[in-house]
Amino acid sequence: MTRIGVLSLQGDFAEHKSALERAGAQAVEIRLPYQLEGIDGLIIPGGESTTLRKLSDAYGLMEPLREYAKVRPTWGTCAGAIFLAREIEGQDPHLGVMNIKVRRNAFGRQIDSFVANLDINGGNYPAMFIRAPLILSVGSNVNTIAKLNDGRIVAAQQDHLLATAFHPELTDDLRFHTLFIEMAKTKSYPHLT
Ligand code: GLN
Repeated sequence: MTRIGVLSLQGDFAEHKSALERAGAQAVEIRLPYQLEGIDGLIIPGGESTTLRKLSDAYGLMEPLREYAKVRPTWGTCAGAIFLAREIEGQDPHLGVMNIKVRRNAFGRQIDSFVANLDINGGNYPAMFIRAPLILSVGSNVNTIAKLNDGRIVAAQQDHLLATAFHPELTDDLRFHTLFIEMAKTKSYPHLT
């Protein structure tokens, strides 16, 4: 069975674990560096990126996480996507491994949370945004996989890395978890169908 680690310091890691299990993978909580050994892929969940950073520093996880995400399948949702980004508007990056630039809390106070129907590969996908970031730009080696109707980028994939501004773990739609499990299992990078 494919073993997917979920960084379990803060945020909605329990929901990711449950979605992974529903999608047929084994979910493993990751809190210490040695636990990164023996997993096929890693999810960095949503939460608060600054808190995630403080806890990762305290647990000695920053360098191990960076080394892991440089070469192994890693998916960041919301705060996790901020964590992966090479550039964060107005502040220093965290892991800085993915060739995207993000803006935190990009949707303002009045619409902190909303559901948007995205068009992904011609199909409808209900995406839940909670104080979400926006992907302002992507590098030439990054595929944009979802945009809002107005063209703003909310999901991207770069080889073994996946970033979503929204929260697939909070819906019943398992397509993103299935995609990521496939990435981890095959070490290849299929497209969402
Ligand atoms: N606003 C949070 C941040 O900047 C992200 C919110 C989330 O993960 N739902 O880190």
